[in-house]
Amino acid sequence: MREVAPERLVFCSTHTHSGPDTMGIWGPAVGEAPYKTGRDHEYMEWMMEQIALGVSRARSRKQPALIGFAENAEDKSEWVINIREPGYHDQTMSVMRVDGVDGRPIACFTNFACHPETLWEHNTLISPDYVHHLHKVVEEKTGAVSVFANGALGGMVTMSLPDETPLAERRVFVKKLGKALGQFAVSAWEKAKPGVVEGIVHRHERFFAPFANKQLFFVAHLGLIEREIKRGKVETVLHAWRIGAAQFVTLPGEPLPAVGFRAKELMNGKTKFLLGLGDDELGYLMMKKHEDDPKYHYERTVSIGSAGVEAILQTLARLTKAG
Ligand SMILES: [Zn+2]
Repeated sequence: MREVAPERLVFCSTHTHSGPDTMGIWGPAVGEAPYKTGRDHEYMEWMMEQIALGVSRARSRKQPALIGFAENAEDKSEWVINIREPGYHDQTMSVMRVDGVDGRPIACFTNFACHPETLWEHNTLISPDYVHHLHKVVEEKTGAVSVFANGALGGMVTMSLPDETPLAERRVFVKKLGKALGQFAVSAWEKAKPGVVEGIVHRHERFFAPFANKQLFFVAHLGLIEREIKRGKVETVLHAWRIGAAQFVTLPGEPLPAVGFRAKELMNGKTKFLLGLGDDELGYLMMKKHEDDPKYHYERTVSIGSAGVEAILQTLARLTKAG
C-alpha cells in the first residue's frame, strides 16, 4: 500500500486477550519462559492485507465532514476496576463524533481504558471481547461506524469480576460490560456538537528509549520478538495530533493509570484522547515507584523499565508543546 505515507497512519490494538499472538511471546513455554514463537506468519500477512484494504477503502470514500467532541466522566466502577490500586484509574471516556455535511452520521471514535480480557484463560475461541458489544450498541444507536482505541489500561485496569468466575458467567458478563460501555459512548455522542473544525496538525517522532529487561532481551535474541533491541535501547514512535480543539496522543504500550494521568497533564487540548498500544507494544509502561513495589511484580516482567517510560514522557512533552 503506497497511497498514504506510513508515518500518517496510526495503528492501535484493542489488546484482546482472546486473539492470535502478534508479538511472538505467547507461544509454547516452559513455565513462564516461551521457547517458540506464537506468531502465525500466514495470519500476520492476512491481517496486514486486511488493514491495508481498510485504509484504502476509507481513503476512497473520504468526504467533507463535521466533527464534534464530548466526554463521559460518569463513575464506571460497577464495570471496570483497577485490581492493583482500587479506585485509581481513568474513568473518562472521550468520544469523537463525525457527521457528513448533510448531517448523516459517519463515525464514532471512542477512547476508554479497560483490558479486553473478560473471557479469561479457559476460553479457546478468538473473540474481540467486550469491544464487539460496545461497537454493536454504538452502531445500532447512532448509525455511525464505531471505532475504539484503548487507554491507560496497564497494571491492572480490567473488568469487575473475581478471577475464579467460570467461563459461562464470563460470556454473559462480556455482553453486559460491552453494552454498558457502549451506552456511555452513545450518551457522549449525543452531547457532541459536530461543526467545522479549523486545523488538523499531526506530529510524530521516532526515537530510542532505554530498555532494561533481561528476560525480554533474551527472548528477543531467541528470535521470538521480531524487532531489534541492542545496547539497552529500543526504537519506538510517538504521535500527537490535534483536530480542532481536541488533542490525541499515542503511547507505545500499556500505560499504568499513573502514566496515563501524567501524559494527560502534558496535553492541553479541550478533549483529550490517549491511545494506548499505539503503533507499538513495549509492554507495561510504569513509573519508578511501581518498579520498586512488589505488588507490580508481574508487570515488571513485561516492561521496558521506568527509564524507558521517562524517555517516552519527555518526547511526549516535546510533541505536545510544539502544538
Ligand atoms: Zn495487558
